[in-house]
Amino acid sequence: MLGTASAVPTRQRNHNGYFLRWGAQGILFDPGEGTQQQMLCSGLSANDITRVCITHFHGDHCLGLPGVIQRIARDGVTHEVEIAYPAAGEAFFEKLRWASEFVPTSVVVPRPLSGPAPAPFGEPLVTALPLRHSIPVYGYRVEEPERVHMRAGALAAKGVTGPPVGELKERGALTLPDGETLYLDDYCVREPGRSFAIVMDTGWCDEAIALARGVDLLLIEATFLSSESELAAKYRHLTARQAGEIAAEAGVRKMVLTHFSERYTAGGFERFGEEAAREFSGDIVVASDLDRVSFPAR
Ligand SMILES: [Zn+2]
Repeated sequence: MLGTASAVPTRQRNHNGYFLRWGAQGILFDPGEGTQQQMLCSGLSANDITRVCITHFHGDHCLGLPGVIQRIARDGVTHEVEIAYPAAGEAFFEKLRWASEFVPTSVVVPRPLSGPAPAPFGEPLVTALPLRHSIPVYGYRVEEPERVHMRAGALAAKGVTGPPVGELKERGALTLPDGETLYLDDYCVREPGRSFAIVMDTGWCDEAIALARGVDLLLIEATFLSSESELAAKYRHLTARQAGEIAAEAGVRKMVLTHFSERYTAGGFERFGEEAAREFSGDIVVASDLDRVSFPAR
């Protein structure tokens, strides 16, 4: 959690910024102002970033991008860093990318996204869906493919070992010399891949639920408490309670609340968790800057 404030940072909360560590990959979401400094405090270097995803071009979600790009250039990062963002904000992306003088790098690869269902991309696979805000916003879902574990014992009992096991896994069926056909689903256990979703700056919408469907970990904005639900509706943001509803409806395992309005500076952030818990019975984290949140154990 590099930053957990909304439009206005506070003494305790930096502008947005979230770094998802995924095996050897590192996906940076919404680098707001101060992201370089927060990365430093989190023990992250420019070299750790393999992909950047921008949800939208409000300043609290992107004003740190120039620093991050220039740091990638300065540090001589050699791997490709693809940057996904709403194509509607192309002009802002270009300004941020070339915000000041620096020796450019060729590793930055823009990936503008458009339409209601952009093609999934990358490894791990990233899916983007438009959310509902005052300007174009995409939420993102990251997931790995499901794992298929073969039931070796049951197959051995049928005399199936070695290469035919791989054949069954690949083709979905295997016919034995005696004519019997075995079907993959009878001889395997399917384990869904790990999944993550980020839902930022949106009013209630079905796409938020679609992105979050069944994920292990959902990072979601909760700008307001229910006492400010009129403001939330007016500015197309979520209350903590609505975030809890989305998590419950999507069947997520663990949720992280963030993007808190500066009006709550006085503290009492546990109220966000309490509100979400009225709707969602799973694990809830109320994010603070520099927190590390782990995926729930399988
Ligand atoms: Zn915001």
